[in-house]
Amino acid sequence: MSVNIAIDGPAGAGKSTIARKLAAELGFVYVDTGAMYRALAYHFLSCGIAPENGEAVAAACKGADVTIAYADGEQQVFLNGENVSGKIRTEEVGNMTSAVSVYPAVRAKLVEIQREIAAKSDVIMDGRDIGTCVLPGAQVKIYLTAGTATRAKRRYDELTAKGQACDLAKIERDIEDRDYRDMHREVSPLRQADDAVLIDSSQMGIDEVVAAIREVYEGVCGR
Ligand code: C5P
Repeated sequence: MSVNIAIDGPAGAGKSTIARKLAAELGFVYVDTGAMYRALAYHFLSCGIAPENGEAVAAACKGADVTIAYADGEQQVFLNGENVSGKIRTEEVGNMTSAVSVYPAVRAKLVEIQREIAAKSDVIMDGRDIGTCVLPGAQVKIYLTAGTATRAKRRYDELTAKGQACDLAKIERDIEDRDYRDMHREVSPLRQADDAVLIDSSQMGIDEVVAAIREVYEGVCGR
């Protein structure tokens, strides 16, 4: 049976950086489920679909094939055969993603793919509903969070480093809106699973968080 580590939490808590690092240490496959939701949202944006139009979103899901593959250990996400990994990290796509991820058709499509991957390999999977919905039987569940201002500043630094112009106050507002939507949607809202370990990374460095999760993993699965 494969070992599954689920990491959930709000936007900008550092889930992907930490999950990627720990996956490399443990030799696990890292699955970034946010990238899959972003690829679908990118598809809806390209089709000119408004996020409020649930029927059009559900119909467009049928024409969207989302797959992932790995190049040099990095997850790449493909939309109908095109590698869209470089196109999905903008705030525009991020906001569209949180608006359309409320729809059951969107979630059902991606959850099925995510479960298939986790059944075949030892994975660290990050997202919003991994411990509560996608992999309720995961051996390790982490809820990783940090204060809003810290998370906004991290996102700002990340985007600035990539040369994208951005405004810190707007990023903070967007993060608050996105968290609110993710936590209050009807289907699979973001919440800490009852059996998840809470880690607040506001005052922690990346390596400290990686070590803390590794300790939880070793406590459950042995060294
Ligand atoms: O993690 P990331 O910021 O890339 O996720 C973008 C959006 O995708 C989230 O704000 C959330 O709305 C959605 N998402 C989700 N369920 C997941 C992963 C992401 O609803 N498992």
